[in-house]
Amino acid sequence: MSGKCIYCGKASEAEYCSQVCNQEYYSYLGRVENFLKLYIACLIVALALLIVPVFVGHLLPFIGLAVLVAGIDFVTMPFAPQFVLKAIGVRKTELVLQAAGFIMAAAGVITILVTSII
Ligand SMILES: [Zn+2]
Repeated sequence: MSGKCIYCGKASEAEYCSQVCNQEYYSYLGRVENFLKLYIACLIVALALLIVPVFVGHLLPFIGLAVLVAGIDFVTMPFAPQFVLKAIGVRKTELVLQAAGFIMAAAGVITILVTSII
């Protein structure tokens, strides 16, 4: 049986490879508990921003804004479902989501700037 540390993803007999990973995992769970509603609210706002252009036009700036909001959401609150955490570990999940979020936020800002000038 080959288990993995839920936090860092290293091979481990127990659920955590070390005390540090144990603490980091519970600190992550605490953040999820405190901010999950805000995280979901931001995603809903991002989706709602995609609906606005149906009524007012100007599709691209709103797509840029939606991507920016979702990107900031992922950078500040890199939460993922349990099956993802189990598959690659909490630490990698956070890094991947934050990197993706950063790129999304940058792409969003660029889209807003470019489309607003034109
Ligand atoms: Zn670990």
